[in-house]
Amino acid sequence: MASEHPDLVIRNGLLVTASETFCSDLLIRAGKISAVGQEIHADGAVEIDARGLLVMPGGIDSHVHLQYPQGPHRVVSSDDWLTGTVAAAHGGTTTIIDFVEALPDQTWMQAFEARLAEAAPQAVIDYGFHMAFNRVDERSLQAVKSVIEAGISSFKIYMAYEGIRLEDEGILRALEHLKASGALPLVHAENHALIRYLTRMHHAAGHTEVRWHPYAHPAAGEAEATYRILTLAAQLDIPVHIAHVSAAQVLKVLREFRARGHQVSGEVCPQHLLLTEALYDQPDEVAMRYVMSPPLRSAADNGALWQALQEGLLGCVVTDHCPFTLAQKRGMRRTPEFRRLPDGSVQAMEPESPWAEHTPSFDQVPGGAPGIETRLPLLYHFGVRTGRLSLPQFVACTSTAIARRFGLYPRKGSLMPGADADLVLFDPERSVTLSATTLHQNCDYTPFEGWTVTGWPRMVLSRGEVIVRDGQFVGRPGRGEYLKRAPYAFVTHC
Ligand code: MN
Ligand code: MN
Repeated sequence: MASEHPDLVIRNGLLVTASETFCSDLLIRAGKISAVGQEIHADGAVEIDARGLLVMPGGIDSHVHLQYPQGPHRVVSSDDWLTGTVAAAHGGTTTIIDFVEALPDQTWMQAFEARLAEAAPQAVIDYGFHMAFNRVDERSLQAVKSVIEAGISSFKIYMAYEGIRLEDEGILRALEHLKASGALPLVHAENHALIRYLTRMHHAAGHTEVRWHPYAHPAAGEAEATYRILTLAAQLDIPVHIAHVSAAQVLKVLREFRARGHQVSGEVCPQHLLLTEALYDQPDEVAMRYVMSPPLRSAADNGALWQALQEGLLGCVVTDHCPFTLAQKRGMRRTPEFRRLPDGSVQAMEPESPWAEHTPSFDQVPGGAPGIETRLPLLYHFGVRTGRLSLPQFVACTSTAIARRFGLYPRKGSLMPGADADLVLFDPERSVTLSATTLHQNCDYTPFEGWTVTGWPRMVLSRGEVIVRDGQFVGRPGRGEYLKRAPYAFVTHC
C-alpha cells in the first residue's frame, strides 16, 4: 500500500531523547521513524534541513479538557476538538489524553462513543481518553473490562466535587477492580468536606470575591487527600498517578510513599511552577482568570515543585488545559462567543443568555485556564534555559515519561525506528511574546500574557505529516487518530 505522504529525511538536527542528545539524520517512511543514523541515503525522500534545531519526540499532554461541560451549569470549555488540537500542534504537542465523563443516563461505553464522535471529525493530532470513575455500582464495575478493551487503561478518580467524587469505600472498590484489570487510577486529590466547609465559612463572612478562592482549597486538604488515596492504594498494592500536584506539603507525602517502595507518580502543570497566589489579590475580573483547583500557591511551592521535577519525584509536566473565555468566567455564556478557525479567521457564535445573574462568587467561577499551546515553550524557557532541566529531562517530562506512564510507549514519546514520526523541530533561539491575540487557543486571555519566552517549534510532524510549518497550521481537521492504550503489567489475575 502506497503511503499517503512521501518519505522524509531530516538532516543536521540535534536529536534529543529522554536519555541523550546526538547529531544524526532521521528517516521517516509511511508515517513511522524508519532509521536514525549518520548520512542516511534516501532516494526520492523530501529533505528537511534541521540545522540549529532540536529534533524531539512530539509533546504528549495527558491532562486536557476539550469541549468539556463543567459543573452544575455545564459551562463548556472554550476549545473544541479542532481549536484545541490546532493550538496543541502549534505548541509542539502531538498527542493528548482527554477525559470521558458519563452523564447519569449514559453508560461509560455510551459516553465514550459520544466523546469519540465529537473528536473524530475535528482532531488534528492523535488522542486518547481517561474514563472518569464517577460511580461505583454493579453496572460500572462490570464495565471496567470493556472500557480497558476499548483502549482506555486509566481511570480518573475525583476525591472532591459533587456528583462525580467517590467516598473512600467506593474508592477501595474502584481500586480493587482497576488492579484486577490492569488499569491505572489517576486521582484528583483534595479534601471535599474541607472545601465545602471553608467555602461556607467564607460566604458567611461575606467573602465571596475571587481572592478567597485559594483559602477554600488549602494545601493541607490536598496533602491529606493525597495521603489518604496512597494509604488506600498501598493496602491493595496498586500504583497511583496524582494529578496536578501544586504544593510542597503534597511532595512530602509522595516522597514518603516512594521511600516505602510504593509506585506513585505525579504530574505538575506550568501554572503551578510559574505563577503564585498573589494573582488572586486583584479585582474579580482579573483574578477569575486564575481560578482553578488546586489553586496557585506560594513562591516556595513553585520552588519545591521545580526541585521535585529535577530529582524525578514528579515525572510529568501536563497542562490541565481547561479554558473558559472571560464572558464564560463572568457567567455571561455557557459556550464561547467566538471560534478561531485553523486559517486564522474568527467565527462569531450565536448570542446566548447568561447562566449567572451577577458576577459569580469564587466557588461558582468555572475552574480552569488555557495552557495547551504554551507548555513546551514555557518549560524550555524556564526549565532548560535556566539550567534547571537538561534537554533529556525536558523530553522525558513533556513526552517520554508520559508515554510510558499511560501505555503509549514506544509508539509515542520515542525516536526509535518503528515509532510514530511525531516530531517537533524546535528552534531554541526563537523568541516569542505570548499573547492571547496571537496564540491559537480559543480563549481571550492567557495566564502568561506579555511574557517573552525563547524557544519555539519551527516545524511539527504527526505520523510523518508536517502539520505546522513556521507558525502556519497545514494539517486538516479529522486527521488525528484515536489511540488505544495498552493495559498495565501489574495485572495479578484475569
Ligand atoms: Mn482536577
Ligand atoms: Mn483536570
